[in-house]
Amino acid sequence: MHPETIVLHGAYRHDEPTGAVAVPIYQTTSFQFKGTEHAENLFALKELGNIYSRIMNPTCDVLERRIAALEGGAAALALGSGQSASTFAVLNLCRAGDNFVSSTDLYGGTWNLFTNTLSSMGVEVRYANPSDPESFRRAVDGRTRCFYAETLPNPKLNVFPIREVADIGNELGIPLIVDNTAAPVICRPIEHGAHIVMYSTTKYIGGHGTSIGGLVVDGGNFDWEKHASRFPNLTQPDPSYHGAVWTEAVKPLGPIAYIIRMRVVLLRDIGAAMSPFNAFMFIQGLETLPLRIRAHCDNAVKVADYLSSHAKIAKVIYPGRQDGEMRRRADAYLGGSFGALIGFELKDGHEAGRRFIDALKMVYHVANIGDARTLAIHPASTTHSQLSPEDRLTTGVSEGYVRLSIGIEHIDDIIADLSQALDAA
Ligand code: PLP
Repeated sequence: MHPETIVLHGAYRHDEPTGAVAVPIYQTTSFQFKGTEHAENLFALKELGNIYSRIMNPTCDVLERRIAALEGGAAALALGSGQSASTFAVLNLCRAGDNFVSSTDLYGGTWNLFTNTLSSMGVEVRYANPSDPESFRRAVDGRTRCFYAETLPNPKLNVFPIREVADIGNELGIPLIVDNTAAPVICRPIEHGAHIVMYSTTKYIGGHGTSIGGLVVDGGNFDWEKHASRFPNLTQPDPSYHGAVWTEAVKPLGPIAYIIRMRVVLLRDIGAAMSPFNAFMFIQGLETLPLRIRAHCDNAVKVADYLSSHAKIAKVIYPGRQDGEMRRRADAYLGGSFGALIGFELKDGHEAGRRFIDALKMVYHVANIGDARTLAIHPASTTHSQLSPEDRLTTGVSEGYVRLSIGIEHIDDIIADLSQALDAA
């Protein structure tokens, strides 16, 4: 089926006991076993089923199976936030003393998580330059467990070379994890060779700015056993699960060793579960995601055109206005569109950025992206204000940089608000 159909029909027809067409919210902590044998089989993973909602829940299950179908993956896991999804994606492979190689172009929260929190736990992040895919290869050693990158990272909005780095990973036996938060539907990273995809569902998948959540999708396309010595978490007996070897244990269920281990070990122990109510909200969002993404992207093209000819703007940062290698990547990975994030630099710098934001009437001033509404922020005075101006510049944030997340309002209304705010900038 096509994405437009999968989001409505994938993994669920109706609720068996009631016939309900909308996915019910199974707001329950626990599930009655049919008997002791049933309970024993569930705990031994001989049978997959519901035990306790920290680990698995039927509402979350529909969301998980739908997103796995949409991405062309083997299985997925819903989590309490995008941050917990990035944490789990890496910690499922890394132990203290191990390292992983990440693109430098990251969401600030992920950068902090990697640079400070994971490092303090003994998991070393090594940063590689996404404009040079070979820098990923150079950073690898015998303790490297994965590569990590974002498809469409802001503020630079340079699309990541997914195929190139996934190919290096395939050669060396290292899986590529891709945060596809900013490009759902328009990019399917597994199709381009990525092995694991993660989302902050808080953004476009929810789409309405109501709920925090995350997802991890296992592509089922990485051969853990071939590179067994690199992945002891998956290929060695797990003392926390009566000696299970995950690559062996899941053989009857499919190539899902990575995601099963994440569910029954990390989610069991750390407990960053998505609530059934939030899963319901994300299922609602997912149903119209392909439609909304098209509208977001169509509006963004028009806004980028408008901004490009504005006298107060020095530069527009948008994949559709790039050239050379960055444009090639945008064309190769964004399915003929360019996403809905736009940056622009005001000629008059910092104070002009603040004046622009303060003059907005319809567009919201928030630290978020991917809402149905148009959103704006001036990073130099907010998200990037802790950095020195020099460090800000290396991340791509000049003093007059403004980030827009273009919504699905009528294009004339978006441009009218931007226009009157630019008059005041
Ligand atoms: N990844 C990206 C690209 C993001 O933009 C964000 C949040 O802004 C996250 C991850 C973290 O997600 P959450 O806020 O749902 O924890």
